[in-house]
Amino acid sequence: MGFIASVQGTLLARPHRHLFTSILPTRFYSHMAKAQPHPFCLTFLGTASAVPSSTRSQSALALRNGTDTWLFDCGEGTQRQIQGSNVKMGRINKIFITHLHGDHIFGLVPLLAGLLNGSGGMVDEDDPREFLNVNKPAVEIYGPLGARAYVRSALAFTQTTLAQAYVVHELRFPDDPKTGDFTNLRKHHSESPSGRNIQQEDGVWKDFLKDGLVSFSAAPILHSIPCVGYVLAEDSLPGKVDPQKYIPELKRTGTPMTAMRDIKEGKRVKLNDGTILEGPSRRPGRKVVILGDTYDPSAIAALGQDADLLIHEATNAHLPGLDPRTKEEDTHELVERRTKSRGHSTPQMAGAFAKRINAKALVLNHFSTKYSGNDDDPPSKAIMDAIRGLAAGVADCEVHCSRDFWTYSVEVPTE
Ligand SMILES: [Zn+2]
Ligand SMILES: [Zn+2]
Repeated sequence: MGFIASVQGTLLARPHRHLFTSILPTRFYSHMAKAQPHPFCLTFLGTASAVPSSTRSQSALALRNGTDTWLFDCGEGTQRQIQGSNVKMGRINKIFITHLHGDHIFGLVPLLAGLLNGSGGMVDEDDPREFLNVNKPAVEIYGPLGARAYVRSALAFTQTTLAQAYVVHELRFPDDPKTGDFTNLRKHHSESPSGRNIQQEDGVWKDFLKDGLVSFSAAPILHSIPCVGYVLAEDSLPGKVDPQKYIPELKRTGTPMTAMRDIKEGKRVKLNDGTILEGPSRRPGRKVVILGDTYDPSAIAALGQDADLLIHEATNAHLPGLDPRTKEEDTHELVERRTKSRGHSTPQMAGAFAKRINAKALVLNHFSTKYSGNDDDPPSKAIMDAIRGLAAGVADCEVHCSRDFWTYSVEVPTE
């Protein structure tokens, strides 16, 4: 039996029907919860560029939406950062990788091992992990070409067994192979064979995933290696209903009160006397843009237009008088040129992109280790305030500098 067949066989041969039945209500309620908008709570788990420091861990960001937690990038030490944060590891069900640089993916395999009850095997006994728990859906990983091979290799060479399934879907660039896994290694016993190779259409990966009210899109952004940015767009939300406007009309015409359900959804309702009542018009849903490393994210501008929140890197800044490491000959132009040549952005570049897409808020991240993430230290805070100021001078919106364990919420709009 081949490896793929073995995984499928395991999935099919051990249905645990009684467990399926017992788990239904949870799924039902979880489905109901997904139909409701929740605040998007973004917790920055790692905000360092390249090398971690005592105040900043490597890139990772958790977005909590109701009971779901989606992780964006997973640098070294992410699992430990989660332990010290308000993010519950067991709730992570989707992981999005922006690019394959180590500071964005080195923590992924340890995180999977922790999340999926990994083990190094048993001596003289069967490892129960060889029997996948088919009652839980696979943890989904999305990323550019190489993400699947990277996870498979690391699990294979460390001989790690996992008690639950995972799956890697790849966002394939036009020059990438359209099919295949980019490795000759056999699938890991925990790897679901349902990993997709998602091709670009018109230069982007539009709506490659839908989860509840949220559609996920992605676009290539320019960096030193293939890199993507993600756009989370929420469906339109029901408008605010003024009961005084509708209930007396329903009563007057003897129309059942159940019509209020359609009115709340913004639908047209025909009353018993033939009158037509229009529900309030729906409100636009929220949009969050999360970029990986970049010196030019232009290709995501259309998808990210009018974002409620843009997360953009700002690796280096020119801070004469504040940053003692500023070189005598440095100018803003020189620092920008140097930053771009390494595939990165300055705060002004981030601010300009926020303005270009008419973002309502900009959060900067992925800071050079020169910039400490300790706001209790006045010189460090002065530097971060200056970085924020450089971006705010260009952007036309509120601007924040992220630090590890900081949470920013995009609330459900009230009207
Ligand atoms: Zn990076
Ligand atoms: Zn990078």
